[in-house]
Amino acid sequence: MFVKVLLPLYLQEALLYSLPATTTAPAAGTRVVVPLRGKLYSGIVVETLEKVEVDYTVREVAGAPEEKPTVTALQLKLWRWIARYYMCTEGEVMKAALPARLKSENITENTRENARSLSVSFVALHPDIDSDEKLAATLDSMKRGTKGERLLLTYLELAEPLSLSAPPEIPEAELLKQSGVSTQVLKSCEKKGLFALVRKRAERTRESSAERLPERLPELSPHQQKAFEAIKAADKPVLLYGVTSSGKTEIYIRLIAETLRTNRQALYLLPEIALTTQITERLRAVFGDRIAVYHSNFSDAERAETYSDLLAANDKADKAQLILGVRSSLLLPFSNLGLIIVDEEHENTYKQFDPAPRYNARDTAVVAARMHGAKIVLGSATPSIESYHNALTGKYALVRLTERYGSAVLPEIRTLDMRRARRKKKITASFSETLLNAITETTGKGEQVILFQNRRGYSPYVQCDDCGFTLKCECCDVSLTYHKFNSSLSCHYCGYSAAQPSECPQCRSTNIKAKGLGTEKIEDDLSFLLPEARVERLDLDSVSSRSAYERILNGFESGATNILVGTQMICKGLDFGNVSLVGVMNADSLLNFPDFRACERSFQLMSQVAGRAGRANKPGMVLIQTSMPENPVIRQVVNHDYETFFETQIVERLTFNYPPFCRLILVSLKHSNRELLQEAGAALKIALTKVFGANVAGPEPPPVGRVQNKYILCFRIKLKKDGAADSYKDFLRDAFARLRKEKKYSGLIVIADVDPA
Ligand code: ADP
Ligand code: ZN
Ligand code: ZN
Repeated sequence: MFVKVLLPLYLQEALLYSLPATTTAPAAGTRVVVPLRGKLYSGIVVETLEKVEVDYTVREVAGAPEEKPTVTALQLKLWRWIARYYMCTEGEVMKAALPARLKSENITENTRENARSLSVSFVALHPDIDSDEKLAATLDSMKRGTKGERLLLTYLELAEPLSLSAPPEIPEAELLKQSGVSTQVLKSCEKKGLFALVRKRAERTRESSAERLPERLPELSPHQQKAFEAIKAADKPVLLYGVTSSGKTEIYIRLIAETLRTNRQALYLLPEIALTTQITERLRAVFGDRIAVYHSNFSDAERAETYSDLLAANDKADKAQLILGVRSSLLLPFSNLGLIIVDEEHENTYKQFDPAPRYNARDTAVVAARMHGAKIVLGSATPSIESYHNALTGKYALVRLTERYGSAVLPEIRTLDMRRARRKKKITASFSETLLNAITETTGKGEQVILFQNRRGYSPYVQCDDCGFTLKCECCDVSLTYHKFNSSLSCHYCGYSAAQPSECPQCRSTNIKAKGLGTEKIEDDLSFLLPEARVERLDLDSVSSRSAYERILNGFESGATNILVGTQMICKGLDFGNVSLVGVMNADSLLNFPDFRACERSFQLMSQVAGRAGRANKPGMVLIQTSMPENPVIRQVVNHDYETFFETQIVERLTFNYPPFCRLILVSLKHSNRELLQEAGAALKIALTKVFGANVAGPEPPPVGRVQNKYILCFRIKLKKDGAADSYKDFLRDAFARLRKEKKYSGLIVIADVDPA
């Protein structure tokens, strides 16, 4: 007997192996260990064959297959669909779908190791240090500037507010990371009686199915009730278009409760890990321990456990479970999925950018829902052009919520004309006088402010005022961003980092200046313009760890800080009650981005961040700084006019034949040798033109034409939406394979991105 085995590698096909004579045929989805190129791999059986006709000796599997499948038939079906549609291999999908330990060749797991990795160490101040005097004495006794002192000070900082009778337990990993000292230092401090170490099983989301409390569900408003009924009645995917704070989440909660009650599973997808915290709390309050959270911030052991729990539900009568997660949770082994919610469906983070599978979890969720016979709801306050088009053309059902919940009204949005302000000299640093006054007034009333700027760092480029030279990354064609907090220059593409030079590398002038506006500079400007303000910054740099993210959000929620400056991270889903002013620092940089989706992204980001302003009895105000206040997209944001926005965009998409009127495939070629790359590009161009004619554009370098020392050329292919896409993709696959096979192009990377974000 033979099996075809899928491996978590880039291989075009499943590989053939033979089974020992005594083995019974394993079901599809069963794990088996196989040898390949001198190594052992854990693979997944996708097919069993009685006979094969091949002209090579088939190797035997190593050891017996597991008894039960690890991957369900529906999963295999979805993997196949993803691989075909997004032009990758099933092995690549498998790699993304399975937690590492389910891919390791070590099939019989070591349970002790498993238990260990599930436990977490915490550090608390030693119980003997139980008074302020003792703490002060301990601090006095320590040598200044030692690692031990740094560790203690970091602990005290993280343990704020400190109670000596019950000193907070801080995760060891977090303490070590924040203090930058080694485990040895911690161990020696423990010996000296400074700290007590506690080992705990990591908080798990185990269900105790026996005693479940009935959910406490809020009464829906008449509007919500109508939307809820409409969603239930729909017999196709639903687009729930509801303005910010219209109560979409409450409707999701109702839908989930009904799904679980009928003993089916529910999946709640979010576009980003950062958003899971707030929603988890809301869902846990209702569903208790029936919810499991799944994303890459959990350890592999924890993810493997969630995976196995869900798989085990296959055999159990009680399947009711709720999974909350980001895109990869769509690939979990659901056996009885009744509902998928795709929250903030317009977010481009649903699309995996790198590596393959480059799938869009929103669109894949629609396919998965069909496979499971599950209901699917895509929700947004600013639906993507694609989804709204699908709703208007009847592919999706459209359900609308046009009012905020309760007495809350939509915020008033105004533009601030920066050209005029500049002429009248009413700009200080990055703030117009009006915005600055509004901030002062708002914080003066004890209310809070959110300021949005879509660039992190201090300034996005550094330029010599004498010769115009800008500092670029050594490995990428992109300017370096200046970060003031560590006075370094860094590349946001490859992570390269260098010290800020004191003179211009080209003309030796010392007149080099950081230019443009990043979140760090706004924070900095505020500190001298409004020294009283308590400012925090929320962007990729400030949230290097999960706890940092939570600390910043908690600080804002509690009112400890009153101004939050941030990138798009602050636009989404976050719900604060006391924010009455939102400022968009520079709308122009959003709108001027060179991409056919720039208008859509701008509208969504501005509307979403505007949605953070104002709640129940506190009307909000949004101020947008721009030098083009008459820009149609800005007018549409100001007027809360999604419909007009959609109509103008859809006309443009139709005129220039962009999605949703065609399917885009972006093909990128990468190579370290520019000449070779151009040659390969020209060769591919000939092949592509034969088939696609005028519907292929390129080769052209992307806006950043070199990353990590590799030059890049792109083709943009527009496919008709006529069902022939599959055969075109087959053609592309072959063309890429031929190109890769040519010796002279060795090292060439070819990437296909279907429906690029
Ligand atoms: P959205 O998801 O559309 O942004 P939410 O569901 O977060 O809106 O609702 C906005 C606010 O209104 C939240 O604070 C929520 O608790 C409250 N809310 C919404 N619906 C109800 C309801 N039916 N009963 C009580 N509070 C509600
Ligand atoms: Zn110079
Ligand atoms: Zn770089």
